[in-house]
Amino acid sequence: MNTARLLVATHNPGKAREYALLLADLPLVVTWLEEVGVTETVEETGTTFLENAIIKAQHYAKLTGLLTWADDSGLEVDALGGRPGVYSARYGGPGLSDWQRCEALLAALAGVPEPQRTARFRCVVALAHPDGRTWTTEGEIAGRILTAPRGVNGFGYDPIFFVPGYAAAMAELSDAVKNQISHRAIAAAQARRLLVDLLAEGLAL
Ligand code: IMP
Repeated sequence: MNTARLLVATHNPGKAREYALLLADLPLVVTWLEEVGVTETVEETGTTFLENAIIKAQHYAKLTGLLTWADDSGLEVDALGGRPGVYSARYGGPGLSDWQRCEALLAALAGVPEPQRTARFRCVVALAHPDGRTWTTEGEIAGRILTAPRGVNGFGYDPIFFVPGYAAAMAELSDAVKNQISHRAIAAAQARRLLVDLLAEGLAL
């Protein structure tokens, strides 16, 4: 019998590996874009995480004929009307380092008092079948933007994101803790359960 394949739609090997580990015990062979010879990227033209995750999952499912898992994530800051949102990776301009993007965000929030520095990381995972059927899950973690960076772990905006439940910046938490509580961990755990149900229902792949 042919084991079904699931394509993780990312060009980032670290992300592919993390999701492959999460899904390791399912009756699926998990693969990723480079492994199936796909080098093209798709333009993320959506204005929400949901739209972008669906765009990516449907695009690569159609291109490869494989059940496809895609995610989109970012940071929403209330005092900035939800920005950077889907522009998180590009905030402050092209070519900036993670640290320079953090600095740009801290500058945009200069003078904003702590109670108004509320923010959240959000992640949407979309699963798309090559026949067009699509399922989505979401995860979020609420916190506040610090006034100065703390910690060295993680990536992106982690050093300036304070997690109240742990009284620490995200970048002060270990990978193990972050992988339990993060927006991505929550969305991925839900998508995993969805996948288990779909496989049990006999989703034809
Ligand atoms: P992507 O969905 O993995 O492409 O992430 C989009 C952008 O959102 C990243 O480049 C980061 O700037 C930000 N981001 C998403 N998740 C995290 C996180 O867990 N920590 C810090 N920044 C994040």
